[in-house]
Amino acid sequence: MNEHSLKKALSKLNIGGLRYFDSIGSTNDEALAWATDNASDFSIVIADEQTRGRGRLNRAWFTPKGSALALSLILRQFPRPYLSRTVGLAALSIAESCSGLGLAPRIKWPNDILLSGKKTAGILIETVWSGEDIDSLVIGMGINVFKESVPPAESLQFPATCLEDELGRTPPPREEIVLNVLASLFRWRNHMDSNAFMKLWEEKLAFRGEQVQAITGNDAPLTGELLGLESDGGLRLCDAQGKSVIVRFGDVSLRPGTPSVSS
Ligand code: ADP
Repeated sequence: MNEHSLKKALSKLNIGGLRYFDSIGSTNDEALAWATDNASDFSIVIADEQTRGRGRLNRAWFTPKGSALALSLILRQFPRPYLSRTVGLAALSIAESCSGLGLAPRIKWPNDILLSGKKTAGILIETVWSGEDIDSLVIGMGINVFKESVPPAESLQFPATCLEDELGRTPPPREEIVLNVLASLFRWRNHMDSNAFMKLWEEKLAFRGEQVQAITGNDAPLTGELLGLESDGGLRLCDAQGKSVIVRFGDVSLRPGTPSVSS
């Protein structure tokens, strides 16, 4: 993957601009700075390696050289009233590109894509403000492509995998994967207000109909059966008393199962 091969692959899309780096701290940091500096809508930052890749709450995101996709997309045009659906937009786009490879992706709400129940991609959305208004969004996506992208198991709280392991063969070139993710995102962003968008997002959720725990900061985990999505993209659970519990965005880590009872 290099600037030339990416430009060629992405020439089929109407992108705002492309900045490619062999190595960078974080593609989201570069995209945030570029957005502040008037980047055009649908401008993209891609790197072959991130040395300080970030997940939520500054947790590290592992992107070793030559093994993964690290990209950040700047959006200026998106339906403002449906802002909270943006993580679904990114998740659906990655999921669709995995489905196109014959895989069966599931979205671990809110921001991870699972294959065979293991994390293959993560999403980090950051906002650029202009006074009280949202100027633009940066959608960061990390996708594990080759085996070397999978972090050592002992460093993880949730198991990880990559496209190569799940396909059982060499994955397509990374340029092709980026094109598919971005083409899907380009299409769906005009339909974020639709029922079809919400339906597909909901259909792709991991753990539907199963018991889950939503771990929210220091509070006791919210536990219940995962029912689906609220119209703002919040997660709807049904607790042990049969009551609906809504989990909003924030620092939520979803885990299968019920909490163990200690005596
Ligand atoms: P979570 O979704 O687990 O709450 P984040 O979305 O913030 O967390 O992602 C960061 C976490 O993902 C890290 O703390 C690490 O455990 C894990 N991680 C880091 N790099 C990778 C990777 N390339 N593939 C899978 N998991 C990773």
